[in-house]
Amino acid sequence: MDAAREQARVEATVGVPALHANDLAPSKSLFHLFYCLDQKLLVYITQHEFRPYDLFKLDTRVCQKADRSSGGLDTLLSCPGSHKDYPSLEDLLIPLLVYFEVLVAYLSTSSANASLVAALALGTTKYISHLTDLSRQYNLKWAFVLDYHWAYHGMRRLDMKDGFHDRWGAPDAELLLELIRHPQTRGSSSSGKSTAPLEEQPCWGWNSGKCKTSPCPDGRAHKCKICGSPEHVNKDCPKRGSAKSQT
Ligand SMILES: [Zn+2]
Ligand SMILES: [Zn+2]
Repeated sequence: MDAAREQARVEATVGVPALHANDLAPSKSLFHLFYCLDQKLLVYITQHEFRPYDLFKLDTRVCQKADRSSGGLDTLLSCPGSHKDYPSLEDLLIPLLVYFEVLVAYLSTSSANASLVAALALGTTKYISHLTDLSRQYNLKWAFVLDYHWAYHGMRRLDMKDGFHDRWGAPDAELLLELIRHPQTRGSSSSGKSTAPLEEQPCWGWNSGKCKTSPCPDGRAHKCKICGSPEHVNKDCPKRGSAKSQT
């Protein structure tokens, strides 16, 4: 709960200053503050339409590299991201910090509720520490930590759409357990380089009852993440018990 300690840990991990709610002047326009970023991406973030897989598009290192080849940046911005765009913790944390900065800056300009802004800033800082801890704990299974992030991020995005900006940070033990019991099926490559197409991946939001719109706004499948049936969510899956006892 010690904000200063969390802050120091994050800075030590990623080598850049983590954000404070007070760092960003709410009077400046968002586009001005984040002039390096594609404006469309900024709008998606503020509307909570931004897809977690697209985080790498906020990584200036990736953008600068793409920009050096002609049309490279346009190609980068238009292609959907995937697991393979995040080979390491750093490749996730660097753009994730930018994403959080945009969220905090936008909330502080659009909401008069200073305590909500502070809760978002603290929650996101705690979440970075949480991810860092997980990657240490599961350092042989980075793909597992990534899967946890996609699901966690997807659910927070739905929360934020409903105005709950303060739900970042707390470890989701239930989600972790689910992932340990039912690891996400991936393509043949053990390096995590091939991934099932997005439309074949189960929507975590739907399974947890948060994603209520069909077809899925995320482009994922509204099907049970254990057996793949569209008839029920994972909690009601008849195979839930049997899969549990195998692990
Ligand atoms: Zn969905
Ligand atoms: Zn099922």
